[in-house]
Amino acid sequence: MALTGMDIYKMLPKKNCKECGFPTCLAFAMKLAQGGVEAEKCPYMSEEAKMKLAEATAPLMKTVKFGSGDKTYTLGGETVLFRHEKTFVNRNRFAVMLKDTMSDDEINQKIANMNKVNYVRIGENMFVEVAAVKCESKNKDQYLKLLKKVKDECKLAVPMIITDDPEIAKAAVEEVKDLGPILYGANPQNYEAMVNIAKENNLLLGVEADNLEALYDVVSKIRSGGYNELILSTKADKAKQLFDDIVNIRRTALVAQDRVFGYPSVVFVNNLSSDKFMQLAYATLFVEKYGSIIVLDEIDYSLALPLFALRQNIFTDPQKPMRVEKGLYKIGPAEENAPLLVTVDFALTYFIVSGEIERSKVPAWLLIPDAGGLSVLTAWAAGKFSGKTIADAVKEMGVEEKLKTREILIPGKVAVLKPDIEDALPGWKVVVGPEEAEMLPKFLKDYTNR
Ligand code: SF4
Repeated sequence: MALTGMDIYKMLPKKNCKECGFPTCLAFAMKLAQGGVEAEKCPYMSEEAKMKLAEATAPLMKTVKFGSGDKTYTLGGETVLFRHEKTFVNRNRFAVMLKDTMSDDEINQKIANMNKVNYVRIGENMFVEVAAVKCESKNKDQYLKLLKKVKDECKLAVPMIITDDPEIAKAAVEEVKDLGPILYGANPQNYEAMVNIAKENNLLLGVEADNLEALYDVVSKIRSGGYNELILSTKADKAKQLFDDIVNIRRTALVAQDRVFGYPSVVFVNNLSSDKFMQLAYATLFVEKYGSIIVLDEIDYSLALPLFALRQNIFTDPQKPMRVEKGLYKIGPAEENAPLLVTVDFALTYFIVSGEIERSKVPAWLLIPDAGGLSVLTAWAAGKFSGKTIADAVKEMGVEEKLKTREILIPGKVAVLKPDIEDALPGWKVVVGPEEAEMLPKFLKDYTNR
């Protein structure tokens, strides 16, 4: 539980010596309770008091990592229950389930689809980050064969080893430890052996139990043994129970401020239904509340497009505008006489406009000035998308040196900017484009066929 200023005050030496920069120990304690100063500022605090304070002032939900190199992912570290309170900080990751009892054809198809679903949406790479590799056969050799195949053929995903057999777990970790796998399968019966394997290899350990009470008990034991790199789940296989469990884990951590449940969670939506679109529906629920790794039976574009888009919306910081870098973007094999368009740096606008230009099949240039990450009309109203900002961008990006064209197409909604731009850019002609981006393909074809 969080410490109050008075709780902290009781641990202080009460010298009132001012060496911490505060007039009294009480003032220092109050500031420390608010997180406004480091405990180290008091040179007289005992080691025991420092340890207690470090524990009490640590984030309620632990941030954990898995993977290796450029495939290192962060989970947890959330501070609020609802995105609108502040923001969610670490997006969930998606996993596809592979079992060593599946046929070769089924495994090959799943791995091929995992490699195929790989695209960029609003500047973010979208792909399945985790291969959930489950030992169902209880046969070590059979399982290791699958794990090796995943290691060799899954180009993008980090393996999550799923077994509750410590002997198989140990061999599996040996096979893929350089990939920074997750080891999933610690439970009330095997947790000591599983913790040892995770500890030796510095791995994120998945802990599960039949229900929340049993989970709380085993996580408490693991924590008191000193291991803290955990991710949690229950074995609930009914949607309502699983949802209750996952929400209660998060609420226990953030509302009751009990760090025993202050870890991210794994959600096996593949256990809730065999229908892929029901799994999709359940997955959307757990993107919002509070699955950190969401395991599906399969992935394809019909599942990925809605799921990844939802995740991007939920885990985008609402306090920061989504924007693209200012610059001169080449769309298609544009040459120096190709049409030049300008729009704002609001990411959604950029991707819609660039998408429509691509759809037109007319190679073109798209100039993006610094417009504050706002939409066209908002940026114009705020004075951030004006004749001057556009003219400045033309000069800053060296457009006159790079291109021969001296015409610039502006969004129809800001036709009013035409005289300002022509004043600021002598020798240039401003062409007013359509009001809606969806009209760009026809407009560009007509424009180039004049
Ligand atoms: Fe009190 Fe420590 Fe600050 Fe001195 S340095 S006033 S003992 S809190």
